[in-house]
Amino acid sequence: MANNGKLIIISAPSGTGKSTIIGRIIDDPALRLEFSISATTRSPREGEVNGVHYHFLSVEEFKDAIANDGLVEYEEVYPGRFYGTLKSEIARIQEKGNNAILDIDVKGGVNVKRMYGDNARSIFIMPPSIETLRQRLLSRATDSIEAINQRVDKAAFELTFSDKFDKQVVNDDLDKAVEETRQLILDFIKQP
Ligand code: ADP
Ligand code: 5GP
Repeated sequence: MANNGKLIIISAPSGTGKSTIIGRIIDDPALRLEFSISATTRSPREGEVNGVHYHFLSVEEFKDAIANDGLVEYEEVYPGRFYGTLKSEIARIQEKGNNAILDIDVKGGVNVKRMYGDNARSIFIMPPSIETLRQRLLSRATDSIEAINQRVDKAAFELTFSDKFDKQVVNDDLDKAVEETRQLILDFIKQP
C-alpha cells in the first residue's frame, strides 16, 4: 500500500452537514484533498452522478466487490443499503501523494481509524441538536419522510460514537465549522 498520502475521515449523523463542509474545503490547494468515492447499493439522488458522488452498484456487484477483497470496509448503513470504501480509491489517491477524504458512517469511521492509526485523522461533525438535524433533512428535501425518520431515529445512537473520534466539530455556524475542520486537517497533514 502506498503510504505517502494521509486519510481524513469525516463522520456524522446524516443531515449534519458533512457533504456541505467537505464541498467547501475539497479544492483548498493547501490541503491536497481528493474525495474517496464510495460504493453503494442505494439509488442515485437527483443530480448525483455515477463515479463522481458514488459508484452506484447493484447488490450483486457489491457482493462481488466484497468477494474479490475490493473493500477496505463496508456497512449496511440502512436496512438493505450497503456502503463501502473501495481499496482502489484509496490507492488511486495516495499514489498521487494526495490526502483521501472519506465521508463515511460512524462505524466505518471508527474501523478505518483503527486500521490506519496515525496515518488517519478522524473528525466527528456534531449537529447542534437532533431537532436541527430533522429540519436540515426536511429542507434538503432529497429523502422521503420515511427515510428522514429513519435517519433521525438513528442519529441519537450515532452520537454515542463521537468520543471514539480524534476530534469533534459542532456544525452550528457553517463558516465556523468549515474553518475549524480546515484547520484540523491542516494541522494533521503538516505532521511528519
Ligand atoms: P450530510 O452530508 O451530513 O448528510 P448535508 O451536507 O447534505 O449533510 O447537509 C444537510 C442540509 O443542511 C443541507 O441542505 C445543507 O445545505 C444544510 N446545512 C449544512 N450545514 C448547515 C448549517 N451550519 N446551518 C444550516 N444548514 C446547514
Ligand atoms: P447518503 O445515503 O446520505 O449518501 O449516506 C448515508 C450514510 O452512508 C452517511 O452517513 C455516509 O457517510 C455513509 N457512507 C457513505 N459512504 C460510505 C462508505 O464507504 N462506508 C461507510 N461505512 N459508510 C458510508
